[in-house]
Amino acid sequence: MSMLYVVGTPIGNLQDFSPRAVEILQSVDFIAAEDTRVTLKLLNHFQIKKPLVSYYEHNLRERGEQIVARILAGERCAVVSDAGMPCISDPGEDLVRLCAEASVPVQVIPGPSAAISALAISGLSTSRFTFEGFLSVNKHSREEHLQAVQHETRTMIFYEAPHKLCRTLEDFRRTFGDDRKIALCRELTKIHEEVLRMTLGEAVEYFASTPPKGEFVLVLAGEEPKAPETFTLEDAVSRAKAYLEEGKKPTEAAKLAAKECGFSKSDIYKNLV
Ligand code: SAM
Repeated sequence: MSMLYVVGTPIGNLQDFSPRAVEILQSVDFIAAEDTRVTLKLLNHFQIKKPLVSYYEHNLRERGEQIVARILAGERCAVVSDAGMPCISDPGEDLVRLCAEASVPVQVIPGPSAAISALAISGLSTSRFTFEGFLSVNKHSREEHLQAVQHETRTMIFYEAPHKLCRTLEDFRRTFGDDRKIALCRELTKIHEEVLRMTLGEAVEYFASTPPKGEFVLVLAGEEPKAPETFTLEDAVSRAKAYLEEGKKPTEAAKLAAKECGFSKSDIYKNLV
């Protein structure tokens, strides 16, 4: 039966490849791989022999249509990326969309994703989070992205390459302040796995003297939600008086102040006139 399988692969430790993933790769007609050389190593390790086609950022459109045509003709295909879940900051999203448009069934064979693995061991709040992917290298888009999340209250997950880490930490510190908590999750599932939990100020300082090595996920705490303002009746009355000075009628001034300060309109009005 025609099918596209979206297959997760290990992010460092080959033992994380599931028996079901092996079975599916053994059973499909062909595999669409981000980098065929990387996938060949994985296939060799698990003694899987399958035809590979390359499917990556720069040939997605044309190759995607060819893959869908083959599936529609009755073949079964698995899409994999170099590491982790396809479609998550990796090729695959487009192919799934093309399949959905052509009513081709798509199944997922879940595997590790660096984002979720990092979040789980970050020590930061996991109840609500956002995935931000990579920051753009383009100055304008990068700044727009940072401004859009400046007051985000949910935990944020970013991917970053080691040679860009210091610049990103500087930009984070400028946007979110010295004291914001961050967990830098490095080389997950590999020999040198490490989680550095610090503030942005400490992280900038630390990496100024320790050159970043390996792959990083940055898990950043969200902004603390602000406590709701509390008002006394006196505050509410002075707010209403300010409205009077602006030329509002006493009833209108009391109504506005009541709405803003959470007191009854009549209590404010009594103290106003
Ligand atoms: N699709 C992948 C996934 O599901 O995790 C992510 C691919 S993205 C192109 C690569 C980025 O993921 C790296 O730059 C790094 O930020 C993060 N990453 C991948 N493997 C990692 C690991 N073992 N430890 C820490 N971060 C990792």
